[in-house]
Amino acid sequence: MILIIVAVVALVGFVVVGVVAWREHRHFVDAEESWRRDDEMHRRHEDEVAESEHRLRLSLDAIAQGLVVADAGGNVLYRNSYARQFTEARHGEALVEAAVAELLAEAAAGRAVEREVELFGPPRRCIFVNALPLELEGRDYGSVALIDDITEPQRLDAMRRDFVANISHELRTPMGALSLLAETLAEETDPEVASRLATRVQTEAIRLSAVMDDLLELSRIESDESSERAPVAVQQVINDAFSRLKPVAEYKQVPIEAVLPAFDIVVRADRRQLASAVYNLLDNAVKYSEAHQTVRLSAWLADGSVEVEVRDQGCGIPLRHQRRIFERFYQVDRSRGHIDGGVGLGLAIVSHVAANHGGEVRVESAEGEGSTFTLVLPASDAAPPGAAAGTDRREEAATVDAGAPQPIGASR
Ligand code: ADP
Repeated sequence: MILIIVAVVALVGFVVVGVVAWREHRHFVDAEESWRRDDEMHRRHEDEVAESEHRLRLSLDAIAQGLVVADAGGNVLYRNSYARQFTEARHGEALVEAAVAELLAEAAAGRAVEREVELFGPPRRCIFVNALPLELEGRDYGSVALIDDITEPQRLDAMRRDFVANISHELRTPMGALSLLAETLAEETDPEVASRLATRVQTEAIRLSAVMDDLLELSRIESDESSERAPVAVQQVINDAFSRLKPVAEYKQVPIEAVLPAFDIVVRADRRQLASAVYNLLDNAVKYSEAHQTVRLSAWLADGSVEVEVRDQGCGIPLRHQRRIFERFYQVDRSRGHIDGGVGLGLAIVSHVAANHGGEVRVESAEGEGSTFTLVLPASDAAPPGAAAGTDRREEAATVDAGAPQPIGASR
């Protein structure tokens, strides 16, 4: 009996110990599982933080503005890639870094500050730096500096100012002349003199309207608004320009010759813009030539491009001016402008037309020997099969007309 009781007690004890051990084990397994889960969550959270920091850094590196963050003691904590260019700089750019350090220190003291730094280059640049304190709910987090290259906006601003000044000047001259002529005309009693004055009034009015036309044309071409690209036959455009200029060329006794291929050269272009460019080149060639100095017009296909060349034997352009003649209102000799009616917008129009069509305009000139302007435009796929791009057809054209350049409009 005693043995049975001992066996029962031992069994119960064994079961109790087993249950306790099992519960302990379960508890341990649960705790381990929970740690593992916590650890995994922590790691995932860390990954997410690292990823979002990485994303933020990439975004800050993508902006075209410098950003430098410093702590309250002025120590730089972060700088994006745009701002890094100034730390590695040895020359002028180092001035920007010095300005950034100074402004960050001032901003850390609680003041928003800014400064423009001129870099004399080349190229000349103007950098704007501003720095702000970083504060939130009375707590100081240091300061941030922003760096901007304002060279281009400043240049555009200066150009706009020049443009307005130039327009005012160009309009004031004929307006002044008109007013004076009208005043004299009102008091004139001699019909012959009055008629002469009236002719001059008309000339000035025409000049004024030409300035306005050029301005409107330039602004239209610059904005490239409502432009339509369609296959345009270059020969047709050249013929049109010639027809418009024929009376002036005849009056000035400037012969115009053409060397044009027998096949059609086609470009995909805004016809009106292209006509304006060719007209302006031809107009200049006639304008800056003396009697009996021949103007020669050629067009050919070369390496997938259409080249339209206007060559004259006129006064030529001094080398030092050649770089600037495509600027708006730029004239080599302003005093000629009044005689010829030019205001310096023609070549600006040509260069905009070239740029709008993915082409370019080139000039070669020697003072006293004449000038050659070449308008280069991409040839169109719509070119007729006989005029395949990639073949230099100039030879062919020159051979066709060799030794006997023909006036435009002549049948060939
Ligand atoms: P403009 O109305 O004065 O002709 P452009 O823009 O057409 O203005 O030309 C700018 C300047 O370039 C002219 O003032 C002139 O001095 C010079 N120029 C342009 N084309 C020629 C040329 N074929 N021969 C000589 N000078 C030229």
